[in-house]
Amino acid sequence: MKTIFRTYQFELMPNQEQKTLLDKYFGCIRFVYNHFLNERKEQYQADEKSDNYYAQAATLTELKRKDKTIWLKEVNSQSLQFALRCLDTAYVNFFRGNAKFPRFKSRKKKNTFTVPQFAKLEADKFYAPKFKEGIKVNVHREVKGEIGKCTLSKTPTGKYFVSILCEEQYQPKEKTGAVCGIDLGLKDFAITSDGIKFKNNKYTKQYERKLAKAQKHLSRKRKGSNSFEKQRRKTALIHEKITNSRMDNLHKVSHKLVTDYDIIALEDLNVKGMVKNHKLAKHISDASWGTFVRLLEYKADWNDKQIVKINRWYPSSKTCCECGWVNQDLNLSIREWTCKNGHILDRDLNAAKNILKEGLKIYRQELAITKVERKSDFGDKAYSMKPEAHPSPLVWVGSSLGQTRLMDLGYTYKCNSHALAPKMIMMMNGVEESGT
Ligand SMILES: [Zn+2]
Repeated sequence: MKTIFRTYQFELMPNQEQKTLLDKYFGCIRFVYNHFLNERKEQYQADEKSDNYYAQAATLTELKRKDKTIWLKEVNSQSLQFALRCLDTAYVNFFRGNAKFPRFKSRKKKNTFTVPQFAKLEADKFYAPKFKEGIKVNVHREVKGEIGKCTLSKTPTGKYFVSILCEEQYQPKEKTGAVCGIDLGLKDFAITSDGIKFKNNKYTKQYERKLAKAQKHLSRKRKGSNSFEKQRRKTALIHEKITNSRMDNLHKVSHKLVTDYDIIALEDLNVKGMVKNHKLAKHISDASWGTFVRLLEYKADWNDKQIVKINRWYPSSKTCCECGWVNQDLNLSIREWTCKNGHILDRDLNAAKNILKEGLKIYRQELAITKVERKSDFGDKAYSMKPEAHPSPLVWVGSSLGQTRLMDLGYTYKCNSHALAPKMIMMMNGVEESGT
């Protein structure tokens, strides 16, 4: 068992009175955030210094006593302080060079506020400070573990949601002994080195016409009018649908991969750079690779599985996975090619196989470093299921069926209930330690 943090999102169905209070919350949070962002900016311009979180929290307490801003008392003070914390984090991230300068919050974007403590979920009600009656909530899946901080939000379509962060005791998935490389593509969303394809659903394309039509209608309406508002909602609903079905698919694919494989190798894609420079930008954004990798990473972390990222300049498509010959003339439109030595290669599958090879090479190198450092901690016999604890080098074995298994020398490997020593399998397959 290990401790993990899982987020659940449910739709809230507040009554009119609760809606008013929620909107008040959003307003107060936005006010606090913007007010103190402005304060910091002004202070900085005056003498290149600005208040930190603690100084600002003290100012906030003063603000709540002033007549002009006494309405800040109507919402939970912890939520206001949390907004200050977020501002502080945004500043720290900016000064570390990890983020852009914090921007003012706008009412038109997504509205959110956080309840750091004392939220509860009981039957079909969500309870938070100042919401004593509880807000009706649509709990569509069981919540496990202990509830921590909760974030409430309102979408541009006027829906209310709550994200609940839970601390859970989790049983990681069983090891399968399987490894794979993944090529993220456009024709298929992803293809694994053993030839499993995940379809690219191209959600945006599917809804593109509908969206274009809705946007055209919107542009004809007078801004601020009732019909404009109605049409804006319609357009936002299409966007929402696209996002939801896309996320659903990404969750399914990442879940399957983490269940089936112990080590997953993929290219470290600079999606931002690609979107900027590429004519395929729209499709790339549509496939949402960045989000996919993020999902894959946290699911792997929960289940003690490994994600290995390889350099994105590694020529995974151009190299023949059988003999290593590099095809310099390969362009994007070629789906299948034959190498100098006569190997017929499917573009994406070949790339996935190369990514796996390269990934395992990197994985072994990292392991070798760990091995030296850990030599004193682990005796020769100290084998555990955790790959990073293995004191001996890892070996992978490929068969003609395209299945690849990871194993450790001197560590028994189970294959469909046959227990085999890895050395024996290597001999059977005629494979030496490959990749290096
Ligand atoms: Zn070849």
